[in-house]
Amino acid sequence: MDASGKREPRLRLRLKSAAETQIRRGHPWVFSESISRENRAGKAGELAIIYDRQDRFLAAGLYDPDSPLRVRILHLGTPATIDNTWWKERLAAARARRRNLFDAQTTGYRCIHGESDGWPGLVLDRYGSTFVLKLYTAAWLPRLPEMAALFTEEFRPERIVIRLSRNMQKSAEKFGLADGQILTGAELCEPVVFLESGLRFQADVLRGQKTGFFLDQRENRRKVERLAAGRTVLNAFSFSGGFSVYAARGGAESVLDLDISAHALESARVNFHLNADMPGVAKCSQERVQADAFEWLAATDREFGLVVLDPPALARKQSERPAAMRAYRKLIAAGMARVERKGILVAASCSAHVGESEFFDLAREGARKSRKTVKELFSTGHPIDHPASFAEANYLKCICFGF
Ligand code: SAH
Repeated sequence: MDASGKREPRLRLRLKSAAETQIRRGHPWVFSESISRENRAGKAGELAIIYDRQDRFLAAGLYDPDSPLRVRILHLGTPATIDNTWWKERLAAARARRRNLFDAQTTGYRCIHGESDGWPGLVLDRYGSTFVLKLYTAAWLPRLPEMAALFTEEFRPERIVIRLSRNMQKSAEKFGLADGQILTGAELCEPVVFLESGLRFQADVLRGQKTGFFLDQRENRRKVERLAAGRTVLNAFSFSGGFSVYAARGGAESVLDLDISAHALESARVNFHLNADMPGVAKCSQERVQADAFEWLAATDREFGLVVLDPPALARKQSERPAAMRAYRKLIAAGMARVERKGILVAASCSAHVGESEFFDLAREGARKSRKTVKELFSTGHPIDHPASFAEANYLKCICFGF
């Protein structure tokens, strides 16, 4: 309704032809500069209907007037009514994708991964009975009560915590919402403990990075566990020590967590302690160093049997790409220099702006330059609970070398 109480006409858009082609091919984003016609000003969260050149229905999406990413596509093809039944079906599809992936030993994983699961700008992570809903666009704010009711009915959570990307915290205030608030269910004032591959981890779901844990590295942590026996491990950019706890259970002799954040290292200490009864963990010696990993690696002469490099995204926008490529090269060279004979290096990148093949190529080149004998052991991309259905969603890659 508008101010005079009249029902407003539907929000109808037309796109420039290149954008129309992209959307038809399944790309989920419409940028503001790609819109050629709009029948009226749209509101946050409104359903925008996109028509093609022939004035036929093309797609429907969530409108966000304050973002350059103006519409996030929900539905493509034939017209549909986006009601509660439609959302339920979409949720059922996300659940079906994850069926039988996790047993009772893994209670932390991603239930909904944004655009690639058909929920643009929305992530839902499960940590045991606590669910964390993270939003990246204000377009979801008017729909939050409906979504909370849907997730409550479907998952029966003990609570749902809401996390907000920085750019939408102001808009959220108008809805009485703040980052880290309990949306529904029991209060919470401390990190939650959940299981991953039978290991216990705490996640600071109220304040921590992402939704509290790097669930996307689970498969790589499992691989590290299998490579760790008898080795001394350097876990650079350790965050809460995930790779180290797996390495310890895998029989590592020692682990060193290296991170710039004291808070991250404190959770690494807690996570080690939470698993003290696991075979391997009690016997493994631990060390924690708070430092800039680039500086620390350049200054040390220590060598390790297994080095893990998992830095934060080094390119957050396209313009930072060249500097990020240089930083990855430097980091991988510095890491390789710290790998002992017959040792192993695992290097990951989570920068969407550095492509998978670019990253693998620079790592391979670094490996060739560093030693005479080097063998690539594996490379990985996204785990199944973090699907990537379009190029920009493809951020995670990891490569491993044996020397
Ligand atoms: N490997 C981790 C996730 C790493 S996230 C896991 O499996 O959970 C990246 C981490 O790098 C964060 O904890 C952040 O505090 C840390 N970090 C960022 N810049 C850093 C720097 N220059 N030196 C060391 N650590 C840094």
